Amino acid sequence: MTTRSTWLDLPADHPFGIANLPYGVFSTAHGPERRRLGVRIGDLALDLGAAVDVGAGMAESPAITEAFRSPSLNSLLALGRPAWSSARDWATEALTDESLRSRVEPHLHHLDDVVLHLPIEVADYVDFYASEDHASNVGQIFRPDNAALPPNWKHLPIGYHGRSGTVVVSGTDVVRPTGQRKGPQDPAPVFGPSSRLDIEAELGYVVGGSTSIGSRVSVDEATDHLFGVVLLNDWSARDIQAWEYVPLGPFLGKSFSTSVSAWVTPLDALDAARVPLPGQSDPQVLPYLTGDAFGLDVHVEVRLNGTVVSRPEHAGMYWSPAQMLAHLTVNGASIRDGDLFGSGTISGPSRETRGSLLELTWNGTEPLILDDGTTRGFLEDGDTVTMTAWAPGPDGARIGLGECTGTIRPAL
Ligand code: MN
Repeated sequence: MTTRSTWLDLPADHPFGIANLPYGVFSTAHGPERRRLGVRIGDLALDLGAAVDVGAGMAESPAITEAFRSPSLNSLLALGRPAWSSARDWATEALTDESLRSRVEPHLHHLDDVVLHLPIEVADYVDFYASEDHASNVGQIFRPDNAALPPNWKHLPIGYHGRSGTVVVSGTDVVRPTGQRKGPQDPAPVFGPSSRLDIEAELGYVVGGSTSIGSRVSVDEATDHLFGVVLLNDWSARDIQAWEYVPLGPFLGKSFSTSVSAWVTPLDALDAARVPLPGQSDPQVLPYLTGDAFGLDVHVEVRLNGTVVSRPEHAGMYWSPAQMLAHLTVNGASIRDGDLFGSGTISGPSRETRGSLLELTWNGTEPLILDDGTTRGFLEDGDTVTMTAWAPGPDGARIGLGECTGTIRPAL
């Protein structure tokens, strides 16, 4: 695959080059109330609505023009995959055709001059549990007397419904949650701020092309509904979670905040990152979970106060996003434009690839030593966690997935 070159002065190996073009929503100092849909190129954001209004690209359908003028990605998500391809072609044309340069350039804003907002109005939010190493580690820590993996784990992608209203954009502070907890030795539950606040380094999948109740999306149809990928941090209060989660799963231990990156990387930018799954032959999965179930070779890095604490590898995930979407709809549940589902914590077999502090410190018993000499079992007030990631792109380029960052503020 060859890529066209942009008229912008941008190194060919820039992680936000012409082969990437992630979508985001931003405002400028000139109109802080007006949210604009944009694509990122280099360290600039192109205002798509303004650019389409000055005819800075090939003729476009009224629906795509309207979507470009709208203040979130949801209008484009609603149009489905053929429109997603056309929109991407339009943006590529605008940034590669030299004859359009004079019309496009006034609508490029440096990222230093914009405020980034949540790129989608999140409809329903689900979080899965697709890493075998993560599920196995959590099993050993939370249920040491049982088998590491629950008996259903290799038959279906386990998930829980989360709280879409508390999905926040990267850079938003996270207030330490308060709630009930009860350690194994405590005679009764106590109430107070969580003392085991954790991260979960994940990818989030952004869904469009809504369906109606009673229909299913097969594994092979899933790419028609998978628009793109964000970085996602599923902040988790392990002490609240451990006391509340039996038998209905995570609730207040996770619903206080979920951070996502400001840029949504289109699935179309990740063609070169598609990889086979590690293998699902023992046991064989049921037929509805079979089909074109690709993985994604995304390399994640997690920093805690600047110290790299983990480098999770998404390519090792057991379940694919297409299988997760097929499972999510196999009972006839509909999907909505702006649905978001998380991959589950990305963890690998070695310590330095574990995507949560729970695993990295083995429930606090093996603290991390940060570059400043301090140690951490779990997060302290003032700590900043930043995820970044990249994936292979065409012609040896790298596709940057932006960053997902948050700082812990004291409990209320
Ligand atoms: Mn999670």
